[in-house]
Amino acid sequence: KAKSEGRNRTSFFSEELEQHMIHRHQLELLLRDTLANQQLQVHYQPKLCLKTGKLLGAEALARLKNQQGHWVSPVEFIPLAEETGLITELGLQVLRRACKECLSWRQLGFQVPVSVNIAAPQFANPQLVRQILNLLTELQLPASMLELEVTESALMLDVSKTQNILSQLKAAGICISIDDFGTGYSSLSYLKKFQVDVLKIDKSFVHEMLTDKGDMEIVKAVISLAQSMNLQLVAEGIELEAQTHKLLELGCQVGQGFFYSKPLSAKDFKAYLQQKTTA
Ligand code: C2E
Ligand code: MG
Ligand code: MG
Ligand code: MG
Repeated sequence: KAKSEGRNRTSFFSEELEQHMIHRHQLELLLRDTLANQQLQVHYQPKLCLKTGKLLGAEALARLKNQQGHWVSPVEFIPLAEETGLITELGLQVLRRACKECLSWRQLGFQVPVSVNIAAPQFANPQLVRQILNLLTELQLPASMLELEVTESALMLDVSKTQNILSQLKAAGICISIDDFGTGYSSLSYLKKFQVDVLKIDKSFVHEMLTDKGDMEIVKAVISLAQSMNLQLVAEGIELEAQTHKLLELGCQVGQGFFYSKPLSAKDFKAYLQQKTTA
């Protein structure tokens, strides 16, 4: 009996593995095809002042549609893009699209900075700074309209290289956020050396802050860290009004989340802009 179970288990796992490989391969083809045809979409999530509701920016989030017309989660395709090297092209397409969109908001009369996620392999690319600066020049978009979001692990990959890149971006006037702060392993001594502007409190802590004492303590610690180091704060993943109240009470004044708005298509974000200022 044990023997046949063992055999079944082996075939079960290899079948599962095979399915996984096929799925992965199909996803890679879809991503390649989408990038080749410039069909990757970008959605925009509003970032607001929690006290006044004023719109302070928008985060650009990549969106991939499969042949059936369903969205594939970035949690699935971003790591794949990183592993296959497609992240370089993906990153450039998102940057370009987001900057162009920001330009179109300006042309409608709205000064809304756009925030773009930069993956670790992109951050390690020595061309990145020049590509970004060239893009801003080409589009005639002021550097103050672009913000970059980098994770702790990307920053910690090569610390001296990071310092160099950050100081170039800073000199150009581009604002840098550390994304998902608290989930990585950045050392506080480097945090002080890195020229970053913003800590984004990870949504996992915000989600549980009212129900889990530990998460509340982490939120408090991140807020006091930012205050003592003169960094701005953004809370991500706000889903409840009660979370907004607590964050304000603790000293975090900026946030984003489904409570305010889901990420919106470029078209819907424009409508949101118009309605927000006339309402
Ligand atoms: P992130 O940069 O931390 O982005 C925030 C994620 O939280 C987004 O997920 C957003 O849709 C989601 N979110 C926002 N508000 C709420 C909320 O109230 N509740 C919940 N449950 N979720 C909320 P999304 O769009 O699925 O993206 C996931 C991650 O994929 C991003 O996390 C980012 O790390 C990565 N990503 C997305 N687009 C890009 C991109 O263009 N380049 C790179 N390098 N990474 C990207
Ligand atoms: Mg982000
Ligand atoms: Mg985040
Ligand atoms: Mg995240």
